[in-house]
Amino acid sequence: MENNENNIHNIDVNVICDFFIRNRRQGPGSNEATKCAFQFLPKYGRNALFLDLGSGTGSQTFALAESTEAKIIAIDLFKPFIDVLNARAKQKCVSEKVQGIVGSMDNLPFEKESIDVIWCEGAIYNIGFQYGINYWRSFLKPDGYIAISESVWLTNSRPSEIYDFWNECYPEIDTIDAKIRQLQDAGYKVIASFILPENCWTENYYVPMDGIKQAFLADNSGNDFAENFIAHITHEAELYDKYHDYYGYAFFIAQKVCDMAK
Ligand code: SAH
Repeated sequence: MENNENNIHNIDVNVICDFFIRNRRQGPGSNEATKCAFQFLPKYGRNALFLDLGSGTGSQTFALAESTEAKIIAIDLFKPFIDVLNARAKQKCVSEKVQGIVGSMDNLPFEKESIDVIWCEGAIYNIGFQYGINYWRSFLKPDGYIAISESVWLTNSRPSEIYDFWNECYPEIDTIDAKIRQLQDAGYKVIASFILPENCWTENYYVPMDGIKQAFLADNSGNDFAENFIAHITHEAELYDKYHDYYGYAFFIAQKVCDMAK
């Protein structure tokens, strides 16, 4: 890192990473939701290639590995997550099939039209849904698929407190209809979409976090950023409690369509 600004940014990211590496998952989801999305794909053999982008420590990667014979390359920006993922792959004896590499989802080291399936749970927001679906499309084989979970509004109007919160964090959040339209405009046929059940957020994500906050704060005592981060994530969980009827994650499974009429 060359300047102070980057250094500060880097330290903050490490603190966030240190928190999430302790959690069961790094984003809302469940093995059941992953497997439910998977069932909309055709059957792939061992020569097929899946990418799992923004994999974190691999919560969905291993659910996928149980479901398919295809090779899965998991990519995450943060090395500590990838180290955990590769250690888990070794422990589960699937290192041949599941390989974690450090990299960015907006700079993929693959040939165009070489990927069968691009999977991404709770992570496309890092580069933006619109940008991501367009950029990834060129890496898919002509009949390839994407399976993405993304933040969505579940109703057409919403209280201002939750609107303002999301508008600050991720202004690209939109209704399921709007996301489907974006996928169609980007050259995909939408095969299925479904809303992730609430336990993906509570039982699998916010509740386990409650169990690690104290130890994390103790390990980072005196670190203002760490304290503010815990306050933020606690507020986020309280908002979910209050407003879960208005927003959530939806899974979108879509197939690339070639030669679209102009
Ligand atoms: N899919 C995982 C993690 C979701 S959290 C799960 O559902 O548990 C979002 C993940 O995206 C984090 O692991 C973060 O490190 C990763 N990430 C952020 N920016 C990224 C980028 N540009 N390229 C790849 N991964 C990125």
